[in-house]
Amino acid sequence: MYDIGIIGGGTAGMTAAIYGLRAGKSVVIIEGESFGGQIVFSPHVENYPGISKMSGNEFATNLLDQAMNFGAETMFTNVERIRVEDDKKIIVTEDEEVECKTVILATGARHRPLGVAREADFIGAGISYCATCDGAFFKGMDTAVVGGGNTALQDAIFLSSYCAHVYIIHRRDEFRGEEHLVKTLKAKENVSFVLDSVVESLEGSDLLEGVVVRNKKTNETTKLKVEGLFVAIGQAPKNDRFAEVVKLDAGGYVLASEDCMTSANGIFAAGDCRTKEVRQLTTAAADGAVAALAASQYIDRFCK
Ligand code: NAP
Repeated sequence: MYDIGIIGGGTAGMTAAIYGLRAGKSVVIIEGESFGGQIVFSPHVENYPGISKMSGNEFATNLLDQAMNFGAETMFTNVERIRVEDDKKIIVTEDEEVECKTVILATGARHRPLGVAREADFIGAGISYCATCDGAFFKGMDTAVVGGGNTALQDAIFLSSYCAHVYIIHRRDEFRGEEHLVKTLKAKENVSFVLDSVVESLEGSDLLEGVVVRNKKTNETTKLKVEGLFVAIGQAPKNDRFAEVVKLDAGGYVLASEDCMTSANGIFAAGDCRTKEVRQLTTAAADGAVAALAASQYIDRFCK
């Protein structure tokens, strides 16, 4: 039986593993997609204290190496649910059942779809949710990014170095993302802002050929001829499978406060998967540390 079973191998999960191992506990990290989490898709990490610039992929690789060097075990499989049996927590995966004394949920969040007609048809045929992964396919072409957060702004900066033109379509005229990113974009000649606007429909037969945007203030519609559309409108959690054991908020995030304790004894939540105001690398790492130390204390106090 493991002391700590961590579900999710992103920044929160891997930091939890490091802290749990350094507290002398046995740790397994279970990941179903790819180790590293969302930061893998960020071209640059520039706001993590002590790191002035590093690719998200390198950051994630370093973190995984660090956790493995401390002795983390990893499993690559999908978790279906958690079963609580007396003092034990059983993580039921599609391959096996993993017994643990405590569990840390660090499942992060997934990209949110735009919700326009034919969106799924154009995935891989013009629509992408990851500029870092797919941007290079659109070299010399006109593209658009939807969203007004840091992801959208960073994506647009990244794409502007490959693409002929980049439109930023945002539903408001103010950005949620950082001001210095907006400034960088405003200084670029091949970037234009399409503000107060939403994507109304997608055009093209097999491949995306354009998007129709509607200005929310004037109701006027405009067609933008683009071959690529990068959707960066935030994330949503995927915690339904844990709803039987921990309480979720209305948005599906695990209810846990700054101490990372959930409604279930011995189950903790860290990072973007829990209810919180700020979802950043720093807060994910901080949660990982807090959750692992809380789990270690729980084991010392309550587990035989
Ligand atoms: P976000 O900050 O939640 O921003 C999502 C954006 O999409 C918002 O501008 C939002 O508009 C817009 N939006 C949401 N739903 C929409 C819809 N249905 N249609 C059109 N637009 C919609 O998400 P994010 O940019 O992915 O960032 C997530 C977190 O990661 C943030 O805390 C961010 O700072 C962080 N991050 C950090 C880095 C880094 O380098 N460290 C990089 C990327 C992201 P409104 O503003 O109108 O709500």
